[in-house]
Order: sequence, then C-alpha cells, then structure tokens
Amino acid sequence: MAALVNVRRDVSDPFYRYKMERLQTKIEGKGNGIKTVVVNLSSVAQSLARPGSYLIKYFGFELGAQTNLDPADDRWIINGAHEASKLQELLDGFITKFVLCKKCKNPETDVHIKDGRILLDCKACGQRSDVDLRLKLSGFMLKHVPKKTKKDKAERRAARKAKQNGKTEENGSGGDENSDQATPPADHKGIESDDDALTRKIKSEAHVLENKEVEVKDDEWAVDMSEEAVRARQQQLPGEFKQKLALNGDEEDEEGEGGGNTVYDQLGTWIQEEAEKKGGINNVEDIDIYVKAKELGIEAKHRTILVLVQTIFDENITSQISKRAPMLKKMITSERHEKALLGGTERLIGHLSGEHPEMFDKVVKILQLYYHHDLVSEEVVTKWGSKASKKYVDLSISKKVRKAAEPFIRWLQEAEEESDEEDDE
Ligand SMILES: [Zn+2]
Repeated sequence: MAALVNVRRDVSDPFYRYKMERLQTKIEGKGNGIKTVVVNLSSVAQSLARPGSYLIKYFGFELGAQTNLDPADDRWIINGAHEASKLQELLDGFITKFVLCKKCKNPETDVHIKDGRILLDCKACGQRSDVDLRLKLSGFMLKHVPKKTKKDKAERRAARKAKQNGKTEENGSGGDENSDQATPPADHKGIESDDDALTRKIKSEAHVLENKEVEVKDDEWAVDMSEEAVRARQQQLPGEFKQKLALNGDEEDEEGEGGGNTVYDQLGTWIQEEAEKKGGINNVEDIDIYVKAKELGIEAKHRTILVLVQTIFDENITSQISKRAPMLKKMITSERHEKALLGGTERLIGHLSGEHPEMFDKVVKILQLYYHHDLVSEEVVTKWGSKASKKYVDLSISKKVRKAAEPFIRWLQEAEEESDEEDDE
C-alpha cells in the first residue's frame, strides 16, 4: 500500500484523522503515445468520498490533457508524462475547491447537486457551502451527477422521518434545506485515522516527557507559572466547577476508583488551567491531555472519559466533537467507556442548560457525531436511550435528555429496519 498523507497537507498533526494514499503513477508508452497511469486513483477518490471521474477530469483540465473517465479495469490514464508530485500538488487544489468545507475546512462533506448549484454539505459543522460554478470541473459535475445508491435513499428517508417526528429544529430561520439536525451519520469508508501514527506520536511524546528533555521555549515563560499564580487561577475557577466535575454516582465501580477521586479531579483541574492559559479549551491539544492522563495513570479508565467530556466540551460541543474524536476513539475501549461518554454528556448538558436552554436541541447532533465517529455503538446508545437514570444527573434532566434524544434513537431503529428490507422506490 502506498504511504499515507493528510488530506490537508498543510496540516502536519499526526492526530489529523483524514488520511489518503499518496498518489502513485506509472509512465507507459513513448513518443506521442506516452501516458500516465494513476495507479491508486480509486483509493484516493474513495478517501475523499468523490467519484474517480471527478479527480481524473480535474487533472485533465489542469494539465490540458486527455483522460479516460470510467475505466472498467480501474486503469486511470492521463495522456502525456506527468510526475506524481505534480499531480499531488494539483490534488491539493481539488481538495480545497471540491472537498473541504468552506467554513471549518473539514474534508467530510457530501456533494449535493441541485437546481444548478453544487453544494458541499459538511458533516462536522453542518455548513453548506457553494462550489464556484466558474471552475471547469463544476460544469462537468453538473452534467455527471453520480447515481444515488439504495443505502443513500434509505438513509435520507429515515432522516426525513426522524426530522418530522422529532422537530429538533425550532428556529426555522434557514428553511428546511439548512436543517441538518437529523441528517444520518454517513459511513465514510476509507477515511480513517492512522492509528499507528497516533500511537507512535503518543509514545514519543510521553517518552520526551518522562526524560524531562523538553526544551523550554521563551514564550512559555510569558505565562506566569508561579505557585501563587496557579493558586490564584484555581481560585478564579467558578465554584460550580468542582460540582461539575463531581464524579460520584458510579456505584458499579469495581476497579477501586471510588473514594477521593483525586487523580480525576487533578486531570480535570489541569485541563481547565491549560484552557485558561491558552485562551480557550480548543487550544489545549489532544496529545497534551492524553499525556497528562497517562502521567496520572488513568488514560485507560472509563471515568477519565467522564472528566474529559465535561472539560474538553462546552456549549459549542457540536463543533468540538470531530476534532476530539481521534483522541476519544483511542481512549474509549469498552462499553463502560461508552456509557461514561454518554453519562458525562448528560452531566455537561444538565450543567450548561441553566444558561443555555438550547443545549437540549443539540442532543441529536451530539449523538449523531458520536455515532458517526464510532465513539458509541448502536447497542449502547439504544440501551442508554431507553431508560432515564439519576446516575449522572437529576432524574428530571436525564428524562429531558432522553426525550431530546428520541429522534436519533428512532433513526437508528429505522435505519436498521430499512437495511433489512429491499429497496422499494
Ligand atoms: Zn464545516
């Protein structure tokens, strides 16, 4: 298999979960008959969730060369000799123009072609952005709309039903085209995190930390790290913070994690302090959080997930999940971890709902993102949704969260039923 590169090559973070194979080419023939075979075009196209014909046609336009559009033998050909590195560069342009969400730069977008417009529908932030119709490939895309698969249809139908039943969006300002609350989680095969790179990075960072070989950069001194300053900062934390992090109520605990909870509190406090230092929780890096958890010896504990959910997420949770998903995926290793994720989320929502009553409207989107990023399984969410519990929050809050989650749970059931029956449209 070819080496993997980040879909956005301007991102060097190995945690970046969107990878694709580096383009491989083979020059064949000579003279006027010389041609370039893009050996792994299908794989790259699949990673980008775009038809191969879009990619090869884009190369053709950019290079002013002829291409074949639908090779039965998977041999994608561009006339003339072209280096792989050049194609890779052109691919960056394709990705920027036809794949990345214009708002959040996430590559997980679906193409919608409708009424002469090409829209990129972002799975991460819900934004729908227009593709520039003056681009040559846009003309091609408008004429070559890929056929919808049966699964697409079933998903859309189930989503529609869930939306009608759920009424999760009440503002109505954007019309139904913008109401993405109940869009089904897409199954983006081929877009996967590179687990090995992640593991390597974590190991090497942890190693550096253990050896205390970290160089202190000048700008790190810009933050006052004296004991007084830290204590003062701790005192600035809202009083409710301790309560928010309350970790009791985990009565099934068999791992001797009960009692003082000091390590968990330490992790939570540390994350909050980092967030303050760095001007916001979104500036605290996954790797740092993970290394800290490891340092405290709790990176594998399900209760750590409970702490994380309540610290790395806030009222903007729906725009934060995708970025944190690789770390969470790494740390959620059992059903108990999944339950902790859901329980922590309940507690977060309960905590925030005082100031942000709209939190309940976000439940479907949150669950959808968790499910989409493989952080919870269908079985665990379904079971969780079936019964309110006072384990993590007041029963009244728990009930409200369950109520808000109903459209998603129903969607899961319907998607299941749909996939069982043959398509009827
Ligand atoms: Zn987006």
